[in-house]
Amino acid sequence: MSPRRAAIEIHGAVQGVGFRPFVYRLATEIGLTGWVLNDVNGVFVEVEGDVEDVQRFVARLEAEVPPVAHIDTLSVEWLEPGGFDEFEIRHSDGSGAKTAIILPDLATCAECLTDVENRTDRRHRYPFTNCTNCGPRFSIIRELPYDRPNTTMSSFTMCRSCRDEYDDPSNRRFHAQPNACQDCGPAVTHLDGAGNETTGDGAIEATVGDLIAGRIVALKGLGGYQLLADATNATAVGTLRERKHRPAKPFAVMVQDLDELDRVVDGTGAEHLLTGPSAPIVLLPERSTSGLAEGVSPPTSTIGVMLPTTPLHRLIAAGAARPLVATSGNLTDEPIAIDDTDAIERLEEIADSFLVHDRPIERHIDDSVTWVVDGAPQLVRRSRGYAPMPIASSTTLPTILATGAHLKNTVALSVGSNVFISQHIGDLETPRAEAAFAQVIDDLTRMYEATPSMVAHDAHPDYVSTRYAMDRSRFDDVPRVAVQHHHAHLASCLADNGTDEPALGITWDGTGWGLDGSIWGGEFLLGDASSFERVAHLRPFLLPGGEAAVREPRRSAAAVLREAGLDIDPALPGLASFASSELGILDQMMAKQVNSPTTTSAGRLFDAVSAMLGLVEVSTFEGHAAMALEHVADTLEDGSYAIPITRSDEAWVVDWAPLIRSIVDDLAVSVTPGRIAGKFHNALVGAIVGVAERVEHPRVALTGGCFQNRLLTERAASRLRSSGFDVLMHRSVPPNDGGISLGQVMVAAARHDTPGEASTPA
Ligand code: ZN
Ligand code: ZN
Ligand code: FE
Repeated sequence: MSPRRAAIEIHGAVQGVGFRPFVYRLATEIGLTGWVLNDVNGVFVEVEGDVEDVQRFVARLEAEVPPVAHIDTLSVEWLEPGGFDEFEIRHSDGSGAKTAIILPDLATCAECLTDVENRTDRRHRYPFTNCTNCGPRFSIIRELPYDRPNTTMSSFTMCRSCRDEYDDPSNRRFHAQPNACQDCGPAVTHLDGAGNETTGDGAIEATVGDLIAGRIVALKGLGGYQLLADATNATAVGTLRERKHRPAKPFAVMVQDLDELDRVVDGTGAEHLLTGPSAPIVLLPERSTSGLAEGVSPPTSTIGVMLPTTPLHRLIAAGAARPLVATSGNLTDEPIAIDDTDAIERLEEIADSFLVHDRPIERHIDDSVTWVVDGAPQLVRRSRGYAPMPIASSTTLPTILATGAHLKNTVALSVGSNVFISQHIGDLETPRAEAAFAQVIDDLTRMYEATPSMVAHDAHPDYVSTRYAMDRSRFDDVPRVAVQHHHAHLASCLADNGTDEPALGITWDGTGWGLDGSIWGGEFLLGDASSFERVAHLRPFLLPGGEAAVREPRRSAAAVLREAGLDIDPALPGLASFASSELGILDQMMAKQVNSPTTTSAGRLFDAVSAMLGLVEVSTFEGHAAMALEHVADTLEDGSYAIPITRSDEAWVVDWAPLIRSIVDDLAVSVTPGRIAGKFHNALVGAIVGVAERVEHPRVALTGGCFQNRLLTERAASRLRSSGFDVLMHRSVPPNDGGISLGQVMVAAARHDTPGEASTPA
């Protein structure tokens, strides 16, 4: 039988995952000759041998891919024999359009952890141990292709032993780009408050000593600086809150292993998420035996927990042998620090000591946050372990840059049929955050050498992200598309579910610029990426003080009480903390419609009820009041409030005013906040199902920040399903504004396809 040659092209997550060694081992095992090459577009293989052997090779290539790799497409072309003598790994070709997928940072694998813990291994207690199955990727890559000289490891020259591993195709560290050891790799240094430096293992011991003594340590982690503190020490946690200016927003906790995790939270159903290569923070119910200080998560008993993601984290967590607060190294609302000088300047007022190292961080990447909802994981913050993995579209898209919304900002870039969503950037509230936003856009477009032919942005005229898009559109002379905020939520949810069929989007959140100039947020939009119809919304009300009302749920309480026909006075629930003169002014503002925009925001309705129950009258972070309301809700409560659905000229209107009057009545007869909150959630679920039944569209999508509420989301999903609807939920991108950039890309692409049919004119 004459030999045949096959040229194989593979695309997907195939770089930096041990794919070439895998191909090499497979080819040599089967006895084929040829070569494998990793370039900016993917992996290319040519193999030569008997036809059956080559076919067997292709079949096993697909069947036995390394654990963290993922093949999107694989094509085979048969060619005349090339006369190869052996199978070789060829060097990367740095030319061509850049479409290869950059892998996210991967948590330390079990084998590397074993090496670190093995006293006789040469990497015993070495904090930067990694292999082709684990370790840093996105946080160290400077440009494609993913090869050591293109990473922040370029300044470290491998020692003889590391080099031998790197060159040995049978070794787990064959072509592991960040391969390193104590002799040749990065090293840690501990800096105490008095300016003393300790390096090596002593630095880790000093860090552990600090944490046990209740001190706050700034740790240079994988994708940025983190602040660590003993989570069982109320004083340490309180001090961290005070210095970080973060009074109530829950802190994430790092535990050393699954045993410690099990003492702190109930991790049932989340084990695979926690221990997988992405190793995100998972929001889980706290156990009564957790031992955590009260201040870790004041408004709720849900704790964000993660396992150590690098050997450095593992050594610290195991040394401290207690749960540790692990929060981003920043002042609240600022992006996480990555540069050493900048970090020390910004964090020296917060941290008592520092644990730093000499491997530069190329870009900031926060820890990702997930939860298990309605039986499956959903991302709440998409960053380390996920970014910049793309969301695949069913069609080829124009090259579109989407600048996202204002809070929880991410940006997105479409290249071919992939939408690359950036890591979490955060709230664009400070000059630092704005700089990080512009930097991420430069980084993403440079990395993929993409020249956007269109810019998509939120319809809000004053967002930083909108102004950036306007400037960019002008300078680059490319069209821009303003995408209505809730339309972007809907399009994002459809793309997240891999569909372009229309759905009824229940798009509920705090704030989004409406087509009529009012503040939307309790919307029912029927449509797809190309267009939508606003088929229903919450009853509108006036928001006294606009932005001020976002910070003060008691203002929303005053607004809904007034809208429900009650005279607002301090005797009404939720208004006691106002001076009567202040209430008079608010009343006047609303009566005269001064600085009191109209809103249909579901988020503000949650705020209002939370304040009425005396839970959160002044909030300190987005979602604070709603989180507290969900937390007190009695989940066994099956009663509800009447919430009529009326018909206006254009749409159905969910009239919550009678519900507000009923809550006032319930409070007057001392019905518990738990029962009231339970009935409130049930009423909203009833309204969602009621509107869906009137609209009669078979598919319903739940999207927007309000669907980070378990009670609302799971009850709405189950009642919709039992009424015969298909329910779509976010999984790979957040339901909150972190998912907006993806939706903007999809809406702009649809507009590109059907000129003149845009639902949201620029
Ligand atoms: Zn490993
Ligand atoms: Zn070495
Ligand atoms: Fe939103």
